[in-house]
Amino acid sequence: MTNPSTNTRDLRPNEMTLEEASRALRAREITVRELWDACAAAAQARNPELNAYLELFAIDERAVDAAQIRIDTEKEAAPLLCGIPLAIKDNILIEGHIASAASKMLEKYRATYDAAVIKKLKEAGALFVGRTNMDEFAMGSSTEHSAFGTTKNPHDTSRVPGGSSGGSATAVAAHLCIAALGTDTGGSIRQPAAFTGIVGLKPTYGAVSRSGAIAMGSSLDQIGPLTKTVADARILYETIRGIDAMDSTTIPDNLYPQKTVPEKLRIGIPDFVKHLVNLPDQPFSTLIRRFVTDGHTLVDIPLRMNQHALAAYYIVMPAEVSTNLARLDGMRYGHAARGEKPLDDYILSRTEGFGPETRRRILLGTFVLSSGYIDAYYHKAQAVRSLLRAEYDKAFEKVDVIMTPTALSVAFKFGEKGDPLSMYLEDIFTVTANLTGMPAISVPMGTVEREGRKLPIGIHFTAPHQAEDVLFAAGSATEALY
Ligand code: GLN
Repeated sequence: MTNPSTNTRDLRPNEMTLEEASRALRAREITVRELWDACAAAAQARNPELNAYLELFAIDERAVDAAQIRIDTEKEAAPLLCGIPLAIKDNILIEGHIASAASKMLEKYRATYDAAVIKKLKEAGALFVGRTNMDEFAMGSSTEHSAFGTTKNPHDTSRVPGGSSGGSATAVAAHLCIAALGTDTGGSIRQPAAFTGIVGLKPTYGAVSRSGAIAMGSSLDQIGPLTKTVADARILYETIRGIDAMDSTTIPDNLYPQKTVPEKLRIGIPDFVKHLVNLPDQPFSTLIRRFVTDGHTLVDIPLRMNQHALAAYYIVMPAEVSTNLARLDGMRYGHAARGEKPLDDYILSRTEGFGPETRRRILLGTFVLSSGYIDAYYHKAQAVRSLLRAEYDKAFEKVDVIMTPTALSVAFKFGEKGDPLSMYLEDIFTVTANLTGMPAISVPMGTVEREGRKLPIGIHFTAPHQAEDVLFAAGSATEALY
């Protein structure tokens, strides 16, 4: 991976990490405008092919000038994000810009206020290159469910970038920005990070305000960073986190017991990936051997409830989707079609406005919440959720992090997961962190070769609530091995 401490790397500005770009700005090796121009030019050149961005924003001259003045005057005291061009997922509101959640339903919706995270980024002096493509309303694992075309994986354009934050992942991996924000309801930051060879963090539930993020599953959603390095993820996370009066689910610092970051980690290997440990020459087993050589310890942990996590997720999530999207009816909000009778307006607006995957989940969610089935499905899934959390809390008495691969395979080809259930299976390692509210990170773990191309894969760590620092330690330890 990149080594931010060297200033000898002969990089184009857009290829720098966030740390490198901040340092170069302060050292006057580049100007804010040069950094913006490099990112904007790369984005303009490659976006027709990759479709990472749904829209590239015009330069905000005032913001560029203000960032430069701030760096010149405040120098080291200027925020690290000052003058840094970022890409923002299309479900996070930026005042005055369209935020469509990659849906026809919101194709023309222009945000009237900034999301809490955007406010914080603006205060830090960050710049916005554009809004990135995604699965419609963040439902999917490939960005194929966008109403505005698929995003390509820059490592092999016949493959998906993952999803739902596929646009943000491709924008970072192809250096069309310095870093990006995504949202993660069941893996949508971490899985695309793994597929594109970058770092993705899903923060503790409540660590980052969801105010101004278009809701998918409100008890699962979190905004988080997609970055080139673990150190960059930390910088972005530290900037956007914090309690917010506009989101009553945000949590104060130290709500949970503080974890100290140990020098050597106790790494929990769950029973369901144990068979991977001794496979020869596999990325997962190779990493494990390297960790052991480095002095970290492995601990077998039984996580029996985990087998029910995916099923519970695909009940709780659609239930919340169906309620969150109810307001988009062509009367109160969203695409408005007019039929003969008022009921036709409603049916037409939602049929034209929503794509097939969104409609499928609304139907599923309405079903599991209906009076005849709520006990059998929704309440059962909530019970599974409590049991899962108890089981993970117990496991964390013995380990610092729990480690699995991020995804089942490398980035798959377009159309390969046409059957919705096979797409849902993609989320098997990531949904538990959302169901339990625990933070989790995906970090590159080398590449494997497919059809003559080197494709990235990711390793996934989960830590107890508010133990992001432990995740950063595990992530940095992994980076040091590649
Ligand atoms: N792939 C998962 C889904 O389709 C997760 C989506 C997300 O995290 N937004 O629901």
